[in-house]
Amino acid sequence: MANSKYEYVKSFESNDKLMPSTWIVVRIDGHGFKKFSEDHGFDKPNDEQALYLMNACAVSMLQEFPDIVFAYGVSDEYSFIFRKETQFYQRRASKILSVTVSFFTSVYVMKWKEFFPQNKLKYPPTFDGRVVCYPSTAIVQDYLAWRQVDCHINNLNNTCYWMLVKSGKSKREAQDFLEGTQAQEKNELLFQQFNLNYNTLPAIFRKGSCVFRDKVEDIVKYTECGDPVKRSRLKVITYHCDIIEKTFWDKHQHILK
Ligand code: ATP
Ligand code: ATP
Ligand code: MG
Ligand code: MG
Ligand code: MG
Ligand code: MG
Ligand code: MG
Repeated sequence: MANSKYEYVKSFESNDKLMPSTWIVVRIDGHGFKKFSEDHGFDKPNDEQALYLMNACAVSMLQEFPDIVFAYGVSDEYSFIFRKETQFYQRRASKILSVTVSFFTSVYVMKWKEFFPQNKLKYPPTFDGRVVCYPSTAIVQDYLAWRQVDCHINNLNNTCYWMLVKSGKSKREAQDFLEGTQAQEKNELLFQQFNLNYNTLPAIFRKGSCVFRDKVEDIVKYTECGDPVKRSRLKVITYHCDIIEKTFWDKHQHILK
């Protein structure tokens, strides 16, 4: 295409290339989801369908963007880790961020009906995003541990809060009651007052969700003797496992290599 005299305006664009050979982490978070969740009748403290919808969006992300090697999600947020050497959009931050956030949001809207067949989507949900580079695998693991610790702290607190509210306390009273209490006290409150062992709650609530490619074995056919012939392949799967302990990373070394 011929250059025009207006071409110079391009020189005002800033270079936003991300540092090479670093893990790129995109974290997406629902904008105003406290209100969105109320307006759409989410169960409190945890609406399982809403979490499944977030997870389905994350699976689509890994299928759409092959350089995403791992995703971790809780509540209205999801973190996506791109492999260190990715050349996706020549590592341009605004391109990577905008295309991932808009893809995620579109999938959320497209899949809404599948997860909420009875609830009409009342207005367009929006997500914000940020992108950060981490220079070492250890720091990426710490980043993910940070998000999972946050999941645990928030979920324990929200579980107590909603138990108190559902048992007749006002929201103000419930909040005041929990102010300054330690994890141990919260566990005891649940157990003694509500006969609830926190550790028996579904793992998706307590641990959040991990999405990554894992080896699965398919039976492709049977031999004449009836023995299965298996072939292994990588499949995008969702687990609710502990990623704070290093055991997970020892067992899944292919993810962050
Ligand atoms: P911001 O725009 O600053 O992110 P926000 O209202 O989205 O504000 P967050 O700190 O992101 O606030 O918290 C998300 C809120 O969305 C939660 O506190 C909770 O009220 C609600 N929420 C998200 N997912 C669920 C879910 N699966 N079930 C019930 N509530 C949910
Ligand atoms: P990139 O991802 O790099 O932006 P692209 O395929 O979107 O690649 P663009 O340079 O943005 O390429 O051009 C958009 C293309 O989309 C056009 O070349 C045209 O083929 C198609 N397109 C967009 N809007 C229309 C339209 N209203 N009618 C017909 N074609 C359209
Ligand atoms: Mg936010
Ligand atoms: Mg939010
Ligand atoms: Mg959030
Ligand atoms: Mg264009
Ligand atoms: Mg285009």
